[in-house]
Amino acid sequence: MVRSAAHRRELLKEVYEQARRCTACPLHATRTTVVFGSGNADAELMFVGEAPGANEDRMGLPFVGQAGKLLDRLLGEIGMRRGDVFIANVLKCRPPDNRDPQPREIEACRGYLDRQVELIEPVMICTLGNFSTKLLRADGTGISRLHGREEVRLIGSRAVRLYPLYHPAAALYTPSMLETLRADFQRIPQLLAQGAPEQPEPLEELPELDELPELDEPLEGERAEELDAPEGEPVALPSGGRPADQLGLF
Ligand code: SF4
Repeated sequence: MVRSAAHRRELLKEVYEQARRCTACPLHATRTTVVFGSGNADAELMFVGEAPGANEDRMGLPFVGQAGKLLDRLLGEIGMRRGDVFIANVLKCRPPDNRDPQPREIEACRGYLDRQVELIEPVMICTLGNFSTKLLRADGTGISRLHGREEVRLIGSRAVRLYPLYHPAAALYTPSMLETLRADFQRIPQLLAQGAPEQPEPLEELPELDELPELDEPLEGERAEELDAPEGEPVALPSGGRPADQLGLF
């Protein structure tokens, strides 16, 4: 199905609104804001990191600290800026104390990333660091072996050029890693110029994310237990995050 850019943008905002009210894993209870991702809904290039940190959780935007500044600088060195790309994480809510994401959380959140990729339709996805590289490749090979090696992978229903990179946060304090990251970045324009890989047969309709309970809808069973709500009682579901038009770029 061919969608206009405006249509894709509107659909992306709908997914964002869904994520803002998401209670599908325990992280909803400890987050300050959902960090959906930000950037250009028509981007050819996406970056995918692991999960929001403390600054991101507070501000509702991905990569806002020192690592984000380095990412901006590296983008500038290849003639790009944040408004040209879309930046997201595998997990949309911060794990407490930056602990490792749990399998249940990863599984619950994966649909959001797949949907983002299906709507944005990037040519290329750069995974940032070990975690997102292993997850998107469904393989345990580490980033030190894979960085700078492009391959075609199916993410959701979209075939993309997957290009693993070191995480900018790791490169901040290791000069040799920064030089490697910089060298890998320099290849991005030429890889983008190759265009999108051949796509599988398009889906007529995107698969739906799990239905969310409506606000003030009585909860039952496991869902009520998860939210620590009395069964059958209305509950105000947590929300969080910025209004879609304040994500700045999409
Ligand atoms: Fe929902 Fe993902 Fe946040 Fe879990 S991490 S509550 S699945 S948005």
